[in-house]
Amino acid sequence: MVTRRTVMATSAATAGVGVAGAVGYRLWSDQEPASPPETDPKGRLLWRNWSGIQSAYPAARAAPAGEDELASLLKTAQGPIRPVGAGHSFMPLATTDGTLLSLDRMSGVIDHDPATLTARVRAGTRLGDLGPALAAIGQEMPNLPDINKQSLGGALGTGTHGTGRGLKAIHGEVLSFRLATAAGEILDCDPERNADIFNAARVNLGAFGVVTEVTLKNRPLTRIHKRVEIRDFHDTCDDWPRLKAVHRNVEFYAIPFTGKAAVITADVTNLPLKPRGPDTDASATMELKSLRDVFGWSAPLRRWVAERLIADIPPQDMVDDGWKLLSNDRPIKFNEMEFHLPQETQIEVLKTVVSTIEARRSDVFFPIEVRTIEADDAWLSPFFQRSSGSVAVHAYYKDDHQFLFDLIEPIFRRYGGRPHWGKLNTLGESDFRGLYPRWAEAMAVRAQLDPGGRFLNPYLRKALIPS
Ligand SMILES: Cc1cc2nc3c(=O)[nH]c(=O)nc-3n(C[C@H](O)[C@H](O)[C@H](O)COP(=O)(O)OP(=O)(O)OC[C@H]3O[C@@H](n4cnc5c(N)ncnc54)[C@H](O)[C@@H]3O)c2cc1C
Repeated sequence: MVTRRTVMATSAATAGVGVAGAVGYRLWSDQEPASPPETDPKGRLLWRNWSGIQSAYPAARAAPAGEDELASLLKTAQGPIRPVGAGHSFMPLATTDGTLLSLDRMSGVIDHDPATLTARVRAGTRLGDLGPALAAIGQEMPNLPDINKQSLGGALGTGTHGTGRGLKAIHGEVLSFRLATAAGEILDCDPERNADIFNAARVNLGAFGVVTEVTLKNRPLTRIHKRVEIRDFHDTCDDWPRLKAVHRNVEFYAIPFTGKAAVITADVTNLPLKPRGPDTDASATMELKSLRDVFGWSAPLRRWVAERLIADIPPQDMVDDGWKLLSNDRPIKFNEMEFHLPQETQIEVLKTVVSTIEARRSDVFFPIEVRTIEADDAWLSPFFQRSSGSVAVHAYYKDDHQFLFDLIEPIFRRYGGRPHWGKLNTLGESDFRGLYPRWAEAMAVRAQLDPGGRFLNPYLRKALIPS
């Protein structure tokens, strides 16, 4: 399939080069973004996030092996102290010229209870390692995000979520956690003990302290049938209420300039195993890029070619344990903005975003992701008391992403969207205060835990402290 599409894309590209040349159109040429120096003038080593847009030169880096070591380190560490997981956030959350603190050495399942399907997990555990570890004890997390590279602490830090009917973000399944404070104390937090901290810091931006371990409410290991199907974009939008009602997990990617959408569903099954094959998403994305590169000068022609390339792609089916299928590899780097919206506005927002991109930004080729998340009661959760529909817009890492701020963010904001804490946005404290009903209480808890602001870097001061 890919081979056929690749052949078609290549021949289409060749034809397009000729046409583009004839009209004097400049084809896109890839340019690797400039890389910051590996060390700063003081010899400090460079740290960068996954997509490369955030960087820092921390004065100190620490990776404590346990709570005692962490607690004593916190008492003296040079601020800003920034916990870091896998560095997969797009915002400058972990950047610091003080202390960068990794929990990579504090990972793994501590213990579990088969009767209640709970597990106590160290916060440095990567979600990709947690899947098999939980499977070994007959459990799985109720839902997973699009990738599983994140650490558990990092995922909780930004309200990381997946998609699905009645399914909450990861922090929505947290029963308790332990928090190491700026003073080096270790606090147990749950609905009874330190309840305010439990409510304020289940989504925490690493601004309240360092989460060391988490008790997760899981469910029995389940086999699922995952299907990926290309459909008409407008039909998919019309069918979205039904899709959300009948499938356990459902999302779709609106593919701009094609009139198509890729619909991904996952449902519990007892069908025989059909493991996922080699990843085809990355090559499909690069084919969309080829289309952009060659036909970006003519939206009708780009769509005409896309319709022919995409028309007869058959659905893909996979059957396996949920943790093996729900998350994906995303080898092609991008920058991303995602807002969480009242569910009833999601499709209207999406259509506005797609038509804006198609009218104004012919360089965009990444599909736009559409998901659904159940409400929860964590004070800084973007889903606080609101079942949400999310819309996420991506820009290839070599392309300009300023349009996300200039064109897309104002649309999201018009509809009362709350930004994903880890993804691009320009909001500051007064904006967040207006979006989060329990903001003041959460900030009071934060100030009490870290009166000196040792966990705050310049971005967190802008986001959390009134100017
Ligand atoms: C390719 C890609 C796909 C993605 N897909 C999704 C998706 O499907 N759904 C979604 O919601 N998001 C998604 N994201 C965003 C990502 O899940 C979040 O940004 C997440 O926070 C990253 O986790 P991390 O371990 O890399 O944390 P980092 O980015 O390193 O840190 C995130 C925050 O958590 C804090 N933190 C880390 N560890 C701790 C700790 N132990 N205690 C206290 N604070 C801590 C940090 O200080 C920081 O504020 C995606 C990102 C990428 C790059």
